[in-house]
Amino acid sequence: MRVTKLDREAREVRLDGDSLRFDAVIVATGATPNKLKVPGAELDGLYQLRSFRDAEQLKDAAQGKHLVVIGSSFIGLEAASSLIEGAASVTVVGQDAEVLSRALTPKVGRAIRKLHEDKGVKFHLNAEVEAIEGSGKAEAVRLKSGETVKADLVLLGIGVKPNSDLLADLANEKGAVPVDAHLLAAPNVYAVGDIALAPTVLGEMRVEHWRVALQEGMTAAQSILESANLEPMDQRVPFFWTQQYGKSLRYVGHAESLDDTHLWGDPDELKFIEFAFRDGQAVAASGMGMDRDLAAFEELLRLGRAPGAGKSSKGNSVWWSGWRRAEHHDATPEEVAVGVRGVRRSRGSEG
Ligand SMILES: Cc1cc2nc3c(=O)[nH]c(=O)nc-3n(C[C@H](O)[C@H](O)[C@H](O)COP(=O)(O)OP(=O)(O)OC[C@H]3O[C@@H](n4cnc5c(N)ncnc54)[C@H](O)[C@@H]3O)c2cc1C
Repeated sequence: MRVTKLDREAREVRLDGDSLRFDAVIVATGATPNKLKVPGAELDGLYQLRSFRDAEQLKDAAQGKHLVVIGSSFIGLEAASSLIEGAASVTVVGQDAEVLSRALTPKVGRAIRKLHEDKGVKFHLNAEVEAIEGSGKAEAVRLKSGETVKADLVLLGIGVKPNSDLLADLANEKGAVPVDAHLLAAPNVYAVGDIALAPTVLGEMRVEHWRVALQEGMTAAQSILESANLEPMDQRVPFFWTQQYGKSLRYVGHAESLDDTHLWGDPDELKFIEFAFRDGQAVAASGMGMDRDLAAFEELLRLGRAPGAGKSSKGNSVWWSGWRRAEHHDATPEEVAVGVRGVRRSRGSEG
């Protein structure tokens, strides 16, 4: 059933032909995938992903077919990894120079792309789509470079817009609804998930990820119930993961820029953590195969004890002030976190 209006004065939500009174309401309406604005965007054979049903339909339709994925970020790459096995071909078209470029540096992005290429996925990067060609249904994607890529199906993974119509007067120009640390957008009205512009330990942000939506739902419910265990959002650290070919990349914190980063481990081995800094302070880390250290880093961020960085002669962050146990020996985030908590724990195997 669809909610058509939220009347905050009357404390009522209207449904098609019905209404419900509320003492408190949580709006968790999510987001809608962006549409492509090029000639041919109205042809049959274009897909978007939001629901489980969308995913099932695409999976069925892609068997034995040539699939072009537009968008080289998380949705596009996860779809490519799921569909390469049954499809005749999968080609990812991305406008950036490397995949996942908003979250990862090119070195890490390249390693993830190689994982895909080894499975047969093809890439056109630094590429703009000019048109979808076909008569009645998609047959090819034409790029601004003049190249065309054969396409029986086209998946659009080009971002989303928050579904904030029910709170349109509270939303900002990007459709995000500002909330406080308890997710309150207006008296008795909570906004959570993809629509919420909420505080975190790293400042205010709108996060389009599952665990944050989950945390926000819990905090809003705890706030309504006046729970003694309420954990406000400004004490929480954003986190998300992506899984491709059974390999999980996890991301903790938030970095607006990747101008100052420091890499531990080897992305080509899919065993690394890449830290990102703001004003010399670590604010985010992405990693694979080093989950314990990443979890410990998350804890340090939450405690406000994330490390600062020293500088190399080139101005890059190369070591951690206060993280070194001895010359040439960096303490790991886990060891530091254990130290911060004053707890003795022996290192086990990777979790
Ligand atoms: C294909 C895909 C893959 C993803 N993969 C990952 C991942 O690997 N890791 C990760 O962290 N995150 C991932 N995400 C993001 C994550 O799923 C979202 O951030 C999260 O689901 C947001 O939760 P939400 O409650 O805000 O919205 P949603 O989960 O989208 O739920 C919104 C609900 O509100 C309903 N609704 C909307 N308007 C109305 C209305 N007017 N009346 C009644 N109901 C309404 C919708 O139908 C929907 O059921 C993925 C998202 C997609 C689409």
